[in-house]
Amino acid sequence: MFAALGREARARGERLEPRRDAFRARQIADDTLAAIRSACPPPSDVVYDREREELLRDVELFLEFESRRRPSEPVAFEVSFGREPGGEEPLAQADPIKVSLGGGAAFQLRGTIDRIDRLPDGSYEVIDYKTGRYRQDKWQGTFRGGAMLQHALYGVAATVLLRRLEPRPRIARGAYEFPSAKGGGERVEVPPPSRAELARVLSDLFDVMADGAFAATDDEKQCEYCDFQHACGGRWRRRGKARPPRQ
Ligand code: SF4
Repeated sequence: MFAALGREARARGERLEPRRDAFRARQIADDTLAAIRSACPPPSDVVYDREREELLRDVELFLEFESRRRPSEPVAFEVSFGREPGGEEPLAQADPIKVSLGGGAAFQLRGTIDRIDRLPDGSYEVIDYKTGRYRQDKWQGTFRGGAMLQHALYGVAATVLLRRLEPRPRIARGAYEFPSAKGGGERVEVPPPSRAELARVLSDLFDVMADGAFAATDDEKQCEYCDFQHACGGRWRRRGKARPPRQ
């Protein structure tokens, strides 16, 4: 929904503005909800109405968040690489991006960057939207012990994708944005690490994996939405319980 709104404003050459764009934002939200509802009916109208209100509030907050944004020009929304491009983003590409670790080692990266903005000095900001709660202690440091890599990896990917616009694009920073009610409108900026720093952290992580050491996180909350709970035992193992059978 954010991408749809952002693309419409980009096509008009305008910034999003709460008073002018609120009606259109609600339309997009309701159309999206109707499509989701027909594919996956809610358990009851009460649940649907409550969650719709929460979503509409988040869309409203997103517009307010946008109105406070420092000057910048959005150049890409939901730009994918290593995936079949949807056709709406000229920077998207089907091929993955090769990330070099030095010494001849490299790996292929695929993903979707939520948004890339051009800043007034011509450099770029790579933005990632977060819908969850903001916890200050979780968003400190450059890599957070290897758990916070997205800004660094997407910075590398954005540098490659933006070469279609200019030969030597410069990434000024990554930004994690929390525009929803849960996120409280917070924003965390992280300067891009040097390629050598990133290669060092990634090489360490790959070495650990190559040794077969898959250490479980000590923060149970991180397991909530993890796809690998049935493989590693995650939170059940920590509680000393057997994992429930896979449905
Ligand atoms: S379920 Fe396992 S892999 Fe997933 S976050 Fe938890 S400890 Fe990590």
